[in-house]
Amino acid sequence: MAHPIDFSRHFISLREASGQPFAHRVLHPWMDRRPVPLADPGGRYARLLAESAGPRLAYVHIPFCANHCLFCGFYRNKSNDAAMETYVDHVVHEIAQDAARPGVADRPIAAVFLGGGTPSALSADDLHRLLSALRHHLPLAPDCEITVEGRVAGFDAEKIDACLSAGANRFSLGIQSFDTSMRRRMGRKASETEATEFLAGLVARERAAIVCDLIYGLPGQTDDIWARDVSLCDDIGLDGVDLYCLTLQPDSPLALSIAKGSLPPSANDGIAELRYRLGDATLAARGWTRLSQAHWGRTAKERNIYNRATKRGIDCLAFGAGAGGMLQGHRFMLDADIGAYQARIDAGEKPIMAMLAPSPHHAARGFVMDALEHGEIDLAALDACVEPGFVAALHPLFRNWSDVGLVSQSGTKLTLTPHGRYWHNNLAAVLFQLIGAYVDGASPLPEMPGGRPGLGSHPRDLPLTHPNTGHPHAARPHH
Ligand code: SF4
Repeated sequence: MAHPIDFSRHFISLREASGQPFAHRVLHPWMDRRPVPLADPGGRYARLLAESAGPRLAYVHIPFCANHCLFCGFYRNKSNDAAMETYVDHVVHEIAQDAARPGVADRPIAAVFLGGGTPSALSADDLHRLLSALRHHLPLAPDCEITVEGRVAGFDAEKIDACLSAGANRFSLGIQSFDTSMRRRMGRKASETEATEFLAGLVARERAAIVCDLIYGLPGQTDDIWARDVSLCDDIGLDGVDLYCLTLQPDSPLALSIAKGSLPPSANDGIAELRYRLGDATLAARGWTRLSQAHWGRTAKERNIYNRATKRGIDCLAFGAGAGGMLQGHRFMLDADIGAYQARIDAGEKPIMAMLAPSPHHAARGFVMDALEHGEIDLAALDACVEPGFVAALHPLFRNWSDVGLVSQSGTKLTLTPHGRYWHNNLAAVLFQLIGAYVDGASPLPEMPGGRPGLGSHPRDLPLTHPNTGHPHAARPHH
């Protein structure tokens, strides 16, 4: 049944929009802020696994890093060969255990993501047996996208060969900036020359899609450094690139260095938005295609299957300490403590640490998120997905968004402007609230998602996604 919507806290005034329309960026609008814990998560996991249908993904978490990068609040464990070998033994065992559960063997997996932490910190042998276990035990689709994340330092030819021979067909490298002084300041060991030569070497092999992450908004970053970083991706011949806005983690070494005054502040939203637009324009001028709000592709090799599907809430199996997954809208997270995780694997358990009930209107939210990621909402499809009359009820809000330059509307298409693309997560969060208000009569949160400029509100997020990438696992930072 349709309920009237009170838009009073959702309209953005022209005065506010001349600066920024929201006080801060919403990081993960798809995360429900009012989670409902479930009893018996292990039993629930088994039932969901048996009952779920449709496409699936798989995520494997490697919570080890060679060092703690300055901007990262997600460092967990220092890499150590013996500990990593034992850890991989357990992950392989977990994969085999899950593969034998009802509802796994006959559901093809469209994409696998080996993330962390730093998967490339593993030895060549461990990388090979982990990827081989995934291929051996799980029903990977014939054209399954298999991504290995890594960082330049320590990712040698032997490890790359091991990944390729075990079936990896996509490498995602955390570069953040090519500029040597920026890299060193952030705790990156490789220089610009080493990073570019490493990537060029991977491209020259022509065996996999090669993508990298860059971050805008870092302390000391200038427009020139940023434009050069983005241009280098094209010069090197990468297949894809993610451009992420820096999320300053309150407990990260970077935040502490800024607070102490040993580093300049990170960019505010005004500057960050300009950098986002500069990156977008630079890539467009070189013929790249925007595949989502933060991801661009240059060649058909870059399919971006995993990243896109996670934001749509597609089911995702999860393996490894601290990994997070999704089954029929239920988010779950595995024990993040390596000792506890391994003990539970030894005991034959799926080491579920937490499981959250699905967000209300999970499918409609997935539709909205996917549409906003691609910059355009088909309003007729939105109406069909939520409830007839929803779009008509939202007309005053869409007019307001159009007036303040966030969207433009033509017939039944609502298209995000470059300004709207920067704020797309906030727009999603508003729409999620209004779906609940319209369909259920749910009372809106006391504050507009993303707040209002000057109100000093702060992002509040559950610890199930990484703040920059938004992947559904516990810790999927840059590398
Ligand atoms: S950014 Fe990646 S490599 Fe660096 S500390 Fe964080 S998880 Fe580890």
